[in-house]
Amino acid sequence: MSKFTNHYQVLGVGESSSLQEIKTAYKRLVLKTHPDRYKKSKDNEKLPSFVSVQLAYEILRSKKRRALFNQQLEQTKKEIEEEKENENDLYKLLDRQAPVMGSVDIDEMDWDGYKKVFHYPCPCGGRFEVSQEDLEEGIPIAICDCCSLAIYVIYDIEEDDDDDDEDEVEN
Ligand SMILES: [Zn+2]
Repeated sequence: MSKFTNHYQVLGVGESSSLQEIKTAYKRLVLKTHPDRYKKSKDNEKLPSFVSVQLAYEILRSKKRRALFNQQLEQTKKEIEEEKENENDLYKLLDRQAPVMGSVDIDEMDWDGYKKVFHYPCPCGGRFEVSQEDLEEGIPIAICDCCSLAIYVIYDIEEDDDDDDEDEVEN
């Protein structure tokens, strides 16, 4: 569906753009994509969705969220580069390039013990899912089971060494 893979692309701004540029781009896109104003035309089909415009702005206008998003973006780019060298991982790469809607803290996600995934509602009515395995492998992206959207999962990679020692006692 969408060709926009990150918040900067949604707003059509550069990764080093100023807050003012981001605001200007947002205002322009909101006017075009708002459900009350959207007019179906060939040109408008190329526009991002209203929801993704909102999300992009919410992330990029906040210094803190933007910094976090930039970090994740760099990490994702690095991982995609690394995977490009390994063509066998094509499917993983395609997954990784799903349009990213925003980010969610792992604490806000629910655990599905049957499917063994963390999940979070997607605007389409489906849900974003990420397996514990993926998180452990450092793939912090939950992908919707109904549409092709994805969301970054924010979580601590470091484990608490408070409660468990490395040698597990199994008796
Ligand atoms: Zn969805």
